[in-house]
Amino acid sequence: MRALTVRPLEADTLELCELPDPEPAAGDLLVEAVAVGVCGTDKEIVRGDYGWAPPGQDRLVLGHESLGRVRRAPAGSGFAEGDLVVGVVRRPDPVPCGACARGQFDMCRNGRYTERGIKEIHGFASDLWTVESDYAVKLDRTLGDVGVLMEPTSVVAKAWDQVDKVGNRAWFEPRTALVTGAGPIGLLAALIGVQRGLDVHVLDRVTEGPKPGLVADLGATYHADPMDEVFSKLCPDVVIEATGVGSVVFGAMANTNAYGVLCLTGVSAAGRPVKVDAGSLNRDIVLQNDVVVGSVNANLDHYRAAAQALAAADRDWLARLITRRVPVGRFPEAFAAGPDDVKVVLSFDRSGS
Ligand SMILES: [Zn+2]
Repeated sequence: MRALTVRPLEADTLELCELPDPEPAAGDLLVEAVAVGVCGTDKEIVRGDYGWAPPGQDRLVLGHESLGRVRRAPAGSGFAEGDLVVGVVRRPDPVPCGACARGQFDMCRNGRYTERGIKEIHGFASDLWTVESDYAVKLDRTLGDVGVLMEPTSVVAKAWDQVDKVGNRAWFEPRTALVTGAGPIGLLAALIGVQRGLDVHVLDRVTEGPKPGLVADLGATYHADPMDEVFSKLCPDVVIEATGVGSVVFGAMANTNAYGVLCLTGVSAAGRPVKVDAGSLNRDIVLQNDVVVGSVNANLDHYRAAAQALAAADRDWLARLITRRVPVGRFPEAFAAGPDDVKVVLSFDRSGS
């Protein structure tokens, strides 16, 4: 089978190689790949900035945003041939820590978790892959290839779960939500906000391309005005931050409504200082009972919530998030940025590549 691999921590080692077909262990599903999504983490790995091969190996099969069809499932697994499935990315650490022992591997405390396509386990960018049936999640069959949005949706479902958990420490009836950044994470966060009946606003810089229309067609409001104007006008109850830009993070922190919840999901580089009035910021957070919470990854509950959010979403709208589908045989194109990219996916359609 074909597999897209890299030698982690070395630049320009991305290669489509031939590997032996995988043999499912007892309890595993054998899955034919439909597509894998390409995200910032994949690009970091391809640049040689991140990633770990499995112990004793020098190459890592890339791909953590999976989508496939079950070719073979063990009896009693709850899966059947033809089911549309995704594989969960993270596995608990071997110790395990208290969080991993309770199925909360997204909250791992010791950092010894592993991740498919990222950290010490092969990913899903191969014609065939296997997955433990306990770490496979079934999708509504009518989703088709937009099911590849499942992993980013699980990350967003976790972010909303964090907002709920933090908000519900006292009376909480949020009305206005602001999402900063209209990439896949931001747009999917806006989708879930709209599904919850909130008045959703999305802030990004671009005024052209697909993003403004995607936001409008959700029934949300798109903003490309200066950040401070948007923040002070909206005074949101909830902010989902998906840019990782320091000035946006601190701008959001200072401008939530009373009892505001700011959930940070964007990963930023170190070494970009911003000037902050720490006294004013502290005063604002204390006097308003505000919370700033970071959120990354997702556990099985979040994957199930994401499957529901996608099943309830408009199929055509979801399909428009996938702005490029690149056959895996032409993989370099998927790692080169296009001007109007939202989500780029590698397609494993045997006839098209
Ligand atoms: Zn752990």
